[in-house]
Amino acid sequence: MDKYSTEETERLRNWDRDHLWHPYTSAVDPLPVYPVRRASGVRIELEDGRQLIDGMSSWWCAVHGYNHPRLNAAVERQLKAMAHVMFGGLTHRPAVELGQRLLAAVPGAELPAGDPNRPEYVFFADSGSVAVEVAMKMAMQWQRSQGHPERNEFLTIGGGYHGDTWNAMSVCDPEGGMHSLWQGRLAVQHFVPRPAAAFGRSWDPEALEPLRRAFGEHHRTLAALILEPIVQGAGGMWFYHPDYLRGAAELCREYGVLLVADEIATGFGRTGRMFACEWAGVVPDILCVGKALTGGYMTLAAVVAARRVARGIDGPFMHGPTFMGNPLACAVACESLAMLAEGEVPARVARIEAVLREELSVLRESVPAGVVRDVRVLGAIGVVEVQRPVEMASIQRAFVEAGVWVRPFGRLVYVMPPYVIGDDDLRTLCRAVVGVVRTECR
Ligand SMILES: *Cc1c(COP(=O)(O)O)cnc(C)c1O
Repeated sequence: MDKYSTEETERLRNWDRDHLWHPYTSAVDPLPVYPVRRASGVRIELEDGRQLIDGMSSWWCAVHGYNHPRLNAAVERQLKAMAHVMFGGLTHRPAVELGQRLLAAVPGAELPAGDPNRPEYVFFADSGSVAVEVAMKMAMQWQRSQGHPERNEFLTIGGGYHGDTWNAMSVCDPEGGMHSLWQGRLAVQHFVPRPAAAFGRSWDPEALEPLRRAFGEHHRTLAALILEPIVQGAGGMWFYHPDYLRGAAELCREYGVLLVADEIATGFGRTGRMFACEWAGVVPDILCVGKALTGGYMTLAAVVAARRVARGIDGPFMHGPTFMGNPLACAVACESLAMLAEGEVPARVARIEAVLREELSVLRESVPAGVVRDVRVLGAIGVVEVQRPVEMASIQRAFVEAGVWVRPFGRLVYVMPPYVIGDDDLRTLCRAVVGVVRTECR
C-alpha cells in the first residue's frame, strides 16, 4: 500500500474521530487512535512509518504473527474456490476439515468412540460472544430435553468476561460488565466470588466452599456453570488454581449441571497448554473457542459439545447464523491448527514465559512503593497489576513512543505477544512495560 502523506493521515484520523466508534469509547470524547498501514510478523507499522513491536496479538488472536505466508496462502487458495456459501443444506471441505481438526485437538479427544463425554459435535459461530450465546442456549435446550425446563439459570464466577451480547453480558463480572447500566433488563444469574486460590500457590480446599454452597442452594434451577478455565481474561487477568476447576467440574457432575468452558481467550496454546482445561485434566460438556481460531485472520468461533449433550437435545438445535461455517474463515483456521499441530508452540510459549518472568520480576522490587500490586505470568501472558487505574491516552502514547503496542485497561498493564516473537523483541517489549509503569503509574 502506498504511504499516506501527513495530511492524508490527518484526514483519516479526523474522519475516524468524528464518525467511527471504537471498542468501549465515547463518540463525544473519544480516545486517540493510531492509524496502521500494515503489519507483518510481530511488527505493526503506523501510517507515519513508526514500527511497533506487538504485545497484544490483537487481543489474543494473532498467535502466528501478522501477514503469515502460510495463512495468506490458505486464504488465497480458498478465495479461488469460493469465499462463502450458506451452511443451510450445503457443506464444504473447509468446514469438515476444521471440524475434524478441532475434535482431534480439544480436551477429551482421547476418550474412546461412543463415550458420552467425548467431544463429538461442532457448531460454528461468527464471534466469541455468539458462541457463548449458542453454548448457553444449548445448555438450556439440553436441560429441557432431559425433562428439566426449570433449569434455565446460570452460575458463574466473579471476575469473568464472556462477551458483550445480551446473555453473554449477564454472566460477565457484575461490576466490570456494568450490570448496573442494565438493571432489570439482564437475566439474573448466580455469582460466586472470583476463585481465591491463585495459580502456582498451595491449594486450600476452603477456596471451593463458595461454589459448593452456591450449587447446594441453586442447583435445581441451574442449566450450567460457565467459566473461563484457569485464566480469567478481560474481567481481570486473574490466574486460579487447577484444583478449583477440578472441584467445579466434580460439583457439576454431582448436581447434573453442565460445565461450559469458555476458552475463547485461553485456547490454542496461550496458557502453556493447548487448552487451559488440560491444567486440571477436565473435559467440559460444552467448550467455546474463538479469537486465535483463525490465527487472527478473521472472525470465527466454535462451540464443541460432548456426545451426550448433542445427542440429548430433542429436535433441532435452534440457532443458525447467516455466515455459519464461512469457508474462508474455516480454511485459514485449518491452516492455523495445522501449524499448531506441528508441535513447536509449547517450547515457544515456555520460552516466552521464562523471559516474561525474568524481565517483569524487577517490577516487584525496584519500583516506588505503592505503585505495583502484583506481577503474574502464565504461559505467554504477562500481567502487571498497578494500584491506580491507568490514564489511558497518556500511557498509550508512552508505549507508542517506546516502540511497542501495549493496551492496558483499568489497573492492568499486560502483554500476550504472538508466539513467534524473538527474544530480543520480547525483552524490548518487557523493558518498555517496566519503563512505562515506572514513569506513568505513580
Ligand atoms: C473475547 C472473549 C469473548 C467474546 O468474543 P468476541 O469475539 O469479542 O465476541 C468471550 N469470552 C472470552 C473469554 C473472551 O476472551
